[in-house]
Amino acid sequence: MSTTLVPPTTASARLESIFDDVLRRNPGETEFHQAAREVFDSLGRVIQKHPQYAEAAILERICEPERQIIFRVPWVDDAGQVQINRGFRVEFNSALGPYKGGLRFHPSVLLGTVKFLGFEQVFKNALTGMPIGGGKGGSDFDPKGKSDNEVMRFCQSFMTELYRHIGEYTDVPAGDIGVGGREIGYLFGQYKRITNRYESGVLTGKGVGWGGALVRTEATGYGATVFTEEMLRTRGEDFDGKRVLVSGSGNVALYAIEKVQQLGGIVVGCSDSSGTVYDEKGLDLGLLRQVKEVDRGRLSDYAEARGADSDYRAGARIWSIAESVRVDVALPCATQNELDEADARTLVRSGVLAVAEGANMPCTPEAVRVFAESSVLFGPGKAANAGGVATSALEMQQNASRDSWSFEHSEQRLHEIMVGIHERCAATADEYGEPGNYVLGANVAGFTRVADAMLALGVI
Ligand code: GLU
Repeated sequence: MSTTLVPPTTASARLESIFDDVLRRNPGETEFHQAAREVFDSLGRVIQKHPQYAEAAILERICEPERQIIFRVPWVDDAGQVQINRGFRVEFNSALGPYKGGLRFHPSVLLGTVKFLGFEQVFKNALTGMPIGGGKGGSDFDPKGKSDNEVMRFCQSFMTELYRHIGEYTDVPAGDIGVGGREIGYLFGQYKRITNRYESGVLTGKGVGWGGALVRTEATGYGATVFTEEMLRTRGEDFDGKRVLVSGSGNVALYAIEKVQQLGGIVVGCSDSSGTVYDEKGLDLGLLRQVKEVDRGRLSDYAEARGADSDYRAGARIWSIAESVRVDVALPCATQNELDEADARTLVRSGVLAVAEGANMPCTPEAVRVFAESSVLFGPGKAANAGGVATSALEMQQNASRDSWSFEHSEQRLHEIMVGIHERCAATADEYGEPGNYVLGANVAGFTRVADAMLALGVI
């Protein structure tokens, strides 16, 4: 590797001009711009130190998805009406392995949403150290309020187009917001039917009875908690007795809550898109899981069943809880840009020690800045929530070897992977002279692994 240094001004001018191109060529895709900006802000010294990345136009190439697929998804609802949604799959980067990343079904999904998620996924997947490239997909379909049959018909129509683009060596989708075990089942069923292949490794997040892996369901939430525990350990702290807020109440949030409770923390609040619950003595996870996972209900139903021990605040933002009570740890596990600068200031005033992103990009750039200025431990999503996709890679390993591992073994592997990601981020931040800056560490370590593979594979 060449060690000639590029002058800092040249490196940053080059980065700015590439970023200007990203803005110009992807108009209106504000979430993608935000995700790219954050990575670019970390790369100045990398480009300075490694001119070969600039010479091979690695950054320009990494911002351009290898392939973007957009398709019509027609289906018939229970009333016999024809409905049309839009489907996406953005195959971003396959330098390290098949494209890998989830599908999001939510009315807010646009091409720019999928591109931001796919871009994040490239670096996240690289950070896991596993052989997976990055991609993402989804649709503006809203599973909320739909019958099982409507969800099935939608998934079958979605897969009728998607099947030709995916495969265990090509592109391996999984779940994300709005896509859980039920949806993966219908998608896998249709793939199997169309291709006449029982190709287990084509999707992850499958049911454990038919090719799925133990711990995949728990992995994102568990992993984010383990990552936070590792951050806390650097300050001689742990979860025992800590008061914790977990935003959201979907898959990531539920299993973050479970792991925090196992480690002795007290989760006092969670949320959904209609409101927030504050349970001073801690959430009743058994009841919460019954309401969310079994009944597919709302947090208001949880609060009603819990009675006087629960305070339901319709329309309230979860972070406002920190205005009146102490919060030690915050785990945003809902969606992008759900925690802004004002929320960050509220949390800092409340004495928050650590914040880790269970969701993808839940903290705005201004919020991240507030945490950095206040020396709050901050774990960015591409590191903190990588346990989900890492366990998907373990599911692919089990499918490839027609094996299935025990819960204990799988959880042990997840734990090792999360500790490894924490170490990699911390060591990279140290190497670049910014100890404790996990944003820098994650971006640089993820980027470097992908960039080196791209260099080795030539201009493709
Ligand atoms: N959607 C998850 C993520 O954001 C998981 C993706 C996967 O398992 O492929 O990382």
